Amino acid sequence: MAYEGLMVSVSGVRGRVGEALTPEIIAQFAAGFGAWALARAGGKAQIVVGRDSRVSGPMFQPVVHAALQSVGCDVLDIGMVPTPTVQLAVEHHHAAGGLAITASHNPIEWNALKFIGPSGLFLDGAEAADMRKVVDGKIPRATWDKLGTVAKDQEAARDHIERILALPFLDVEGIRKRGFKVGLDCVRGAGGVFMPVLLELLGCKLATINMEPDGRFPRPPEPVPENLGELEKLVEDSHCDIGMAVDPDVDRLALVSEEGVAIGEDYTLALAAKVVLRHRKGVVVTNLSTSRIIDDIAREAGSRVIRTPVGEVNVATRMRAEGAPIGGEGNGGVILSELHLGRDAPVGAALILQLLLEEGKSLSKIVASYPRYVIVKDKLVRPAAPLDTVYEALKRAFPDAEVDTQDGLRLTWPDRWVHVRPSGTEPIVRVIAEAPSAEEAEKLVRDCRQPVEALGR
Ligand code: MG
Repeated sequence: MAYEGLMVSVSGVRGRVGEALTPEIIAQFAAGFGAWALARAGGKAQIVVGRDSRVSGPMFQPVVHAALQSVGCDVLDIGMVPTPTVQLAVEHHHAAGGLAITASHNPIEWNALKFIGPSGLFLDGAEAADMRKVVDGKIPRATWDKLGTVAKDQEAARDHIERILALPFLDVEGIRKRGFKVGLDCVRGAGGVFMPVLLELLGCKLATINMEPDGRFPRPPEPVPENLGELEKLVEDSHCDIGMAVDPDVDRLALVSEEGVAIGEDYTLALAAKVVLRHRKGVVVTNLSTSRIIDDIAREAGSRVIRTPVGEVNVATRMRAEGAPIGGEGNGGVILSELHLGRDAPVGAALILQLLLEEGKSLSKIVASYPRYVIVKDKLVRPAAPLDTVYEALKRAFPDAEVDTQDGLRLTWPDRWVHVRPSGTEPIVRVIAEAPSAEEAEKLVRDCRQPVEALGR
């Protein structure tokens, strides 16, 4: 079945509220997910439900509850929480799955459902395809005597925080003694009721903006440097040791140095990995579009990086297969496997404070000790020729590059790379390049454009 204007992917379904995304659509996907989870669990299933702070969240929440009850699933509602809290609660309660009502970093008019499997990971491709069959078919409903129940758990966030504080290599006492001053911007998302509790338990003194969790995002909610001007100013004016920004569902963390400069979200995972690799052995897993600063950090620690196709679940499942202690995405998504296999901004924040404690120097000094890279993104009109022809043309144009074809085409050199992959939703090809300077990265993008355009439209 096709749904006009709705973006359906492996990990979820999203749309603009009042346009493609209606209570009816949410009910259909939630009921289909519940029926799928119930069948897999064998007759009894509890589903954890949480939401971010979006204005439409309280409207969709009872819809999700009713849809799950209607197929015979019991609901455990954990309220307004970070998405990683939902993932952890699924594991903690041995639930049959979880639903997060959140459109993550998307603008204010969006909302979405994210599907979490019984392991606490997002659904993978095969699971999502199975689940879609249930959504698109005749969903089996429960009779009056088999309807599910709804229970509430207000301890999920507290449990998440306690697990972070209990991490063996986190020196909570040491961090507390340092009394870091942290500038915090939660963009009026779910982090507003979570991050201050965690950071205060870590002894931080806070200077905050955008903490009201009412979903009225005062700026574009993605924590990329161009959106963090207000936090940069706060950090500088309040003489903070560090600034932290999270996205509305608190799975991405971006950092601002004590000089009031956003250092770029690729550094979050790299710096978290720097501290974790001191205490844990193993490889680092990240996707093909993440900055190579992670390679420098891994090499310095005697480790190496394994790259996966883009998508959180691809990173998480590969981490599980490799026994990787740390992984994630260059968009500020840190995954610490001994906590759980999901992007988790709160654990990222704790790891960064541990790094500041261990290094005993400022964030800007730590960053300055590594080479800088610049990422440039562009899009090309998708040519009429098949994508394999496009990739062959690019390989011929760059015969000296190392080739990776897991997800589109990635060409790699010792200090630069370019990743070319089709958009899932638009007739374009995305090109992302990284090099030591903007000029070199732009040149890589330009050099890709020529052979692609030569193929015609
Ligand atoms: Mg998010």
